Amino acid sequence: MGIVTSTAVATSDPAGNPELASGVNIQGLTKTFSLGRKSVQALSDVDLGTRKDSFLSLLGPSGCGKSTILRILAGLESPTTGSILVNGRTAVEIQRDHSIGIAFQDSALLPWRTVEKNIRLPLEVAGIRSDDALVDGLIDLVGLRGFEHAKPAQLSGGMRQRVSIARCLVVQPSIMLLDEPFGALDDMTRQRMNVELLRIWTERPATTLMVTHGISEAVFLSDVVAVMSARPGRIAEVVEIDLPRPRVPELMRTPEFHAYVDRLSEILFGGRGEPDD
Ligand code: ADP
Ligand code: MG
Repeated sequence: MGIVTSTAVATSDPAGNPELASGVNIQGLTKTFSLGRKSVQALSDVDLGTRKDSFLSLLGPSGCGKSTILRILAGLESPTTGSILVNGRTAVEIQRDHSIGIAFQDSALLPWRTVEKNIRLPLEVAGIRSDDALVDGLIDLVGLRGFEHAKPAQLSGGMRQRVSIARCLVVQPSIMLLDEPFGALDDMTRQRMNVELLRIWTERPATTLMVTHGISEAVFLSDVVAVMSARPGRIAEVVEIDLPRPRVPELMRTPEFHAYVDRLSEILFGGRGEPDD
């Protein structure tokens, strides 16, 4: 089992490759923010492609533009130049058919709504009839049984994040955008959520992009890990994770797993051995 790496991703001809055309297809993406008279180049010439229903992680230091990529895909920011398609659709089209599930670390819950009503919110916004069994199952899945009628203020930070994950899944998305979704959770809960996320993703495949700071987490979950570097934000290297599925926690104790973790650490930290953040 070899580690396949490439510095440039083969996104050049999506038309000739239907799988790439229907996954994530980002080409020549740049984003410049203007702050008064100053401008910040958040992204410089990002090319990135994955197959439909694959799991892609973005790994990199703070400020390298990971969230900006997700926000552009979600239609919350517009690109300065370049094009993005997910599953063959533009951000506007994706939003129109409500097939996108979003869980960002800072995704706010509505404080006056209960857990259950926060989870149902995207369905209401989309005008889709709520499926009680689905909502009920999601409450079990994220471990919030007994808290259905609690308000966000009565929950811990970790519990609020789990509500966000359930809210992301309730639309049964074909595209999932996850920005450090488990960032505030303790290690054990985080590990359990990763295994659950993988189970859900296997049962109900979706083209997934996840931002994470966790190298092991990225290897465990992903088909492809894109390592980014900062100033300006760009793709440093793309590593395909050629480990068998289904992935089980025991995998994390194998030499192959550790080889990927070491490889990614080296790309991220080089000879410095220290993370940027
Ligand atoms: P990451 O998620 O990798 O930490 P971000 O995508 O949040 O990085 O930010 C990338 C760069 O763009 C940073 O320098 C950040 O300060 C800047 N940036 C992000 N959003 C904005 C904004 N709305 N206005 C100005 N600068 C921004
Ligand atoms: Mg971020």
